[in-house]
Amino acid sequence: MDKRLWSDKAKSLTPYVPGEQPKHDNLCKLNTNENPFAPSPKVMDAIGAVLANDANTLRLYPEPESDELCSVLADYHGLDTSQVFVGNGSDEVLALVFASFFMKDKPLLLPDISYSFYPVYAQTFGVATKSIALDESFAINVDDYVGECGGIIFANPNAPTGRLMPIAQIRQLAQRHTDAVVVVDEAYIDYADDVSTASAISLIDEFDNIVVVQTFSKSRALAGMRVGVAFANPSLIAALMAMKNSFNSYPLDRLAQAAAIASIQDEAYFQEKRQAVIHLRQDLTAHLQQLGFEVLPSAANFVFAKPSQMPAAIIAEKLREEGVIIRHFKQARIENYLRISVGNREQNARLIEVLTQILA
Ligand SMILES: *Cc1c(COP(=O)(O)O)cnc(C)c1O
Repeated sequence: MDKRLWSDKAKSLTPYVPGEQPKHDNLCKLNTNENPFAPSPKVMDAIGAVLANDANTLRLYPEPESDELCSVLADYHGLDTSQVFVGNGSDEVLALVFASFFMKDKPLLLPDISYSFYPVYAQTFGVATKSIALDESFAINVDDYVGECGGIIFANPNAPTGRLMPIAQIRQLAQRHTDAVVVVDEAYIDYADDVSTASAISLIDEFDNIVVVQTFSKSRALAGMRVGVAFANPSLIAALMAMKNSFNSYPLDRLAQAAAIASIQDEAYFQEKRQAVIHLRQDLTAHLQQLGFEVLPSAANFVFAKPSQMPAAIIAEKLREEGVIIRHFKQARIENYLRISVGNREQNARLIEVLTQILA
């Protein structure tokens, strides 16, 4: 390709590669941790209402700061609106987090195995990183996060391991690194058994250096709408706001704002589907164990599993041939694991059926 007119920056990038989004839908898609259930019917109604209401016409720009959505989120979590920020998917929120807090002289600390977009953002924003190995059980050991740093980021539950780190350890990190921002990416936190004790949102009032990032893409079944959130002390939120308004003033369109508000307002539907996925995860785990897989304890809507009879890469290939897609990472330490999104009952049954054939 002719890159003559590209900037040196553009030439230097190695972009993130998302999981495959197949164009035809006869595949059993368990590769990108989307919700196996539809969004709440109230979300669909809210989108319809936007389109039907002249005052809400798409001819006009949306509210630039998504004020109503921020206020609904603040009420839901018992926070003040000054502690809430929203963006076009949590990927955008994370990009603004990197630009706002991590572009410093000291390196960013992050686990060797975590969301693979973090190193990409680090490269985009010229942030030096220091990768810290997870322990043998794939848990984060906070005692390894020592020394001068320009920030810390990890996913909790971690991806792709699914492991949940206890809140007490997040507290320790924030206490030990008061001059750095600690970012907890809680993309999957709603699949923890007890969300209120698992989420670092409970630490926001106490610590001025914690940012909690969440998304509507997984537990709220709105990956197609692109809504991400950050919760933090107002002074950190102000930095995100300044960065956003130096990049894109209107990150959330009218449909996304209305959909997200309606989703938060349908708590009964949310709880029902979240519990359903947790039960489906337990079922899937038991079936995989019967097939000889070692399955890490997961607090997410996916499991990370190691087969005993056949290399993971081969199983992934054979599943693909049968129309079941899951995720395999060609990465040191985890090349013998498979990340499998929790599907609905039919999808999980199909996966287990095909796996049983492959391993027979
Ligand atoms: C899915 C995911 C995201 C991205 O979520 P979007 O809101 O869809 O951009 C961020 N972090 C982790 C760990 C994820 O798994």
